[in-house]
Amino acid sequence: MSKDLHGLGVSAGSAAGPAVRLGTPPKLPDVEPAVADTGAEADRAVAALEAVGESLRSRAAAAGGQAAEVLVAEAMMACDPALATKVRGLAGAGRPAAWAVNEALASYRAMLTSAGGYLAERAADLDDIADRAVALLLGKAMPGIPAPGHPFVLLAAELAPADTATLDPAAVLAIVTERGGPTSHTAILAKTFGIPAVVCCPGALSIADGTVVAVDGSAGTVVVEPTPEQVEQAARRSAERAARLAAAHGPGRTMDGHPVKLLANVGGPADVPAAIDADAEGIGLLRTEFLFLDRRDEPSGEEQRVTYAEILAGMGGRKVVVRTLDAGADKPLAFASQQAEPNPALGLRGLRLDGLLPALLDTQLEALTLAAKDTGADLWVMAPMVSTPAEAATFADRVHGHGLPIAGVMIEVPAAALCAAQIMKQVDFVSIGTNDLSQYTFAADRQAGALAPLLDPWQPALLQLIAMTATAGRAAGKPVSVCGEAASDPLLAVVLAGLGVTSLSMAPPSLAEVRAALAGQTLARCEAAATAALAAATPAAARAAARAATEG
Ligand code: PEP
Ligand code: MG
Repeated sequence: MSKDLHGLGVSAGSAAGPAVRLGTPPKLPDVEPAVADTGAEADRAVAALEAVGESLRSRAAAAGGQAAEVLVAEAMMACDPALATKVRGLAGAGRPAAWAVNEALASYRAMLTSAGGYLAERAADLDDIADRAVALLLGKAMPGIPAPGHPFVLLAAELAPADTATLDPAAVLAIVTERGGPTSHTAILAKTFGIPAVVCCPGALSIADGTVVAVDGSAGTVVVEPTPEQVEQAARRSAERAARLAAAHGPGRTMDGHPVKLLANVGGPADVPAAIDADAEGIGLLRTEFLFLDRRDEPSGEEQRVTYAEILAGMGGRKVVVRTLDAGADKPLAFASQQAEPNPALGLRGLRLDGLLPALLDTQLEALTLAAKDTGADLWVMAPMVSTPAEAATFADRVHGHGLPIAGVMIEVPAAALCAAQIMKQVDFVSIGTNDLSQYTFAADRQAGALAPLLDPWQPALLQLIAMTATAGRAAGKPVSVCGEAASDPLLAVVLAGLGVTSLSMAPPSLAEVRAALAGQTLARCEAAATAALAAATPAAARAAARAATEG
């Protein structure tokens, strides 16, 4: 008998196959064995950490791009000399190697967790290192992505960054997690790999390994033990989707030719080929943090210039929207000595950091100016976390003052959406960051899986703020983009076009689906879907109303 589980569909597509759970972390036995040779035990412990570091580095080399950066950072933690010293100390005092490694990493974990925000998120990396080293030392199976030798649907409580970073899209048919939200790491990386995914799905871990499940990453459903007809339906939907995607190419436009630019979200030079392959019309969000995080010192202007020029040249004259550094809160900078903040997401983050460290922005703008000159690129620059028209005006002056012609701001704070008409007078364009706009509109931490329903991008309050911003853009005759995760939902993309959004920026694998969805609707239908969604009282009603309008 088939049964349905329901979660949040965060990466489109359908697939059916046998479920396999994420490898579970090894458990230390209750009884700690006695150690005969403490020196040899210390050597064994440190060698295990080095072996973990080495395997993470080789996975990084195979993964490339954003995934490689995550893995290299984790490898550096595993081989940190201070960690080795601590482990040696514990083993030297008589603890067996696996226990010494576990305890040392647990103390680091406690420090990171109490720091909160981005550092607390790194605790998952430390757990991963501990689990891998303990598995090696105890001769147990490695935790993490299983390798059953056939394609499978991966089940997990939630995926650690290192797990998602090494997913093989050819082997993993779909992902289902019990926790996680629409903007979680799992959701973003599943989209990057183009793997259908359902998160926040209670009951997922009660499915036994080997059970066949059918996953619909658009509807957010997981059918356990589907009937042969349901399996066939998943295969048919998948084939139809592939045909639909293959048929849609070129610039984004509705069936009747209304243009909606389709742009890529990029996190570094390694992501540029995927943007080009997906036929992106440009980059709508270059997250420049990749140059700054995990660094002891600020990257020099010259290093920045070279990297920006590489990305601009790689885009071959297409439009590139660069977001200036979005540090603070969940993305703290080691070299920017910020005071500990009681509430970092509401503190000195994004453009607000400029009040403390103005040279950071000037160096970045200078490097961008030089890179644009080197490459002749169509460069647009925008600031994150802008709240008032005055902040927008100051930023635009700084950008124009460096000789960069096009300055914009992100709309991520409800205050900015509410006064979008005034902001529009100060800048050349805006881009709506729906991930943060949801977080701040609903007072719901975007990392908190339990709050995922509030962070649903179909929440009518979020749609209202987007509508206000788009209306202000239309009145001013200035472009309004959406570059948060909301842009990659094909049905929502139709609604956004209907609201008057002029471009959509997303992870490259999502572009084809959105392009096909827009090509299937006239502008009038998009507008009808937008009107219907805005009038709904709940996210589910908004979805249903929009779907009915597009089919009507
Ligand atoms: C957003 O907030 O929607 C956004 C695009 O920025 P980030 O996810 O990098 O905070
Ligand atoms: Mg943001």
